[in-house]
Amino acid sequence: MQPSELVALAREYGNPLYVYDAEKIEFQYNRLTNAFSKVERLRINYAMKALSNISILKLLNTLGSGLDTVSLQEVQLGIHAGFTPDKIIFTPNGVSFEEIEAVAELGVQINIDNLSILEQFGTKYPKVPVCIRINPHVMAGGNENISVGHIDSKFGISIYQIPHVLRIVENTKMNINGIHMHTGSDILDIEVFLYASEILFDTAKQFKNLQFLDFGSGFKVPYKKGDIETNIEELGKKLSKRFLAFEKEYGSPLTLAFEPGKFLVSEAGYFLAKVNVVKQTTSTVFAGIDSGFNHLIRPMFYGSQHVIENISNPKGKERFYTVVGYICETDTFANNRRIAEIHEGDILCFKNAGAYCFSMSSNYNSRFKPAEVLWKNGKGHLIRERETLEDLLQNQIMLSL
Ligand SMILES: *Cc1c(COP(=O)(O)O)cnc(C)c1O
Repeated sequence: MQPSELVALAREYGNPLYVYDAEKIEFQYNRLTNAFSKVERLRINYAMKALSNISILKLLNTLGSGLDTVSLQEVQLGIHAGFTPDKIIFTPNGVSFEEIEAVAELGVQINIDNLSILEQFGTKYPKVPVCIRINPHVMAGGNENISVGHIDSKFGISIYQIPHVLRIVENTKMNINGIHMHTGSDILDIEVFLYASEILFDTAKQFKNLQFLDFGSGFKVPYKKGDIETNIEELGKKLSKRFLAFEKEYGSPLTLAFEPGKFLVSEAGYFLAKVNVVKQTTSTVFAGIDSGFNHLIRPMFYGSQHVIENISNPKGKERFYTVVGYICETDTFANNRRIAEIHEGDILCFKNAGAYCFSMSSNYNSRFKPAEVLWKNGKGHLIRERETLEDLLQNQIMLSL
């Protein structure tokens, strides 16, 4: 999107504001499906925790995507947005047996990641097909917060416990129809992914009634210049070939599934905020914006480096700024960044604001959550209104003291 288009949207809808480019989401979806075009049965399940606005879900539904969910509420929102239950997979971690029951009741494919629930579920519902999430113990990424396949991870059933899984299956006569892994959100290396895939294939051989193999996600998108990006085209070529060979060996048709979040929506998102104050101190120049980690927590939470552009002055001379929010504690978006000269009132644009940005926002400091706009066919469409004081008060009860 052009800076002028974004500035116009901020003027029309106010700031701070989240903007999502529908065309970019579609582009990424098609990139992924094209990379695996040799695979006859391919299923992309969008991991909706990345960005869960129902209009975004609807857009992905029209593209042909399925949905990956982690809570009963996500399942309910997905159904509300138009996904049929057979297009949804439920991949929770550490949720109650009752929640899994409630989701299975809706006809959604469930994915179980621990032996205790597997045994209980198989005993009570031997006929309901279940996918199991394995932990292949592969360290896929660079950021220790988001590598979920390694030895100390809370996710998945260890591959060393497969004999126990087989015992449960034998005892309960339950139906395992899928094997799943998700090795984390930071795959730097296709070879690591392929290595983990071999473990998935090995595990799959021990189950006779599989319908799908789910390779999770973890595709990396660039945040700043020089960042590594997963080469989807190369992964598609290599994994498709291996998958098709495995399918032949397995002897019955299998679906290849993925559940990307970040890959589909990260780069489609722009977060726009206004500069309230430019503050010169003895050591730096702060640009203070009308937002904070309540709206975009990734820099403070993960140390993410979102590119920041001054879209009010895109051609301005570059200066160094420390961009900070208005939350009353440390609230830094960027340190010593080269940004086109900033004046009070300018609109700053944060890139890669599609994934894990709005969906992780809060009302901390009793601030309203921003509005969201979908940019489609050269026009902005409001898909979430900015909150108001009524929203903050809605569920509170004032006692008559
Ligand atoms: C969060 C999550 C994803 C999506 O990860 P991205 O890095 O956003 O692609 C996929 N699968 C599961 C099970 C997840 O929890």
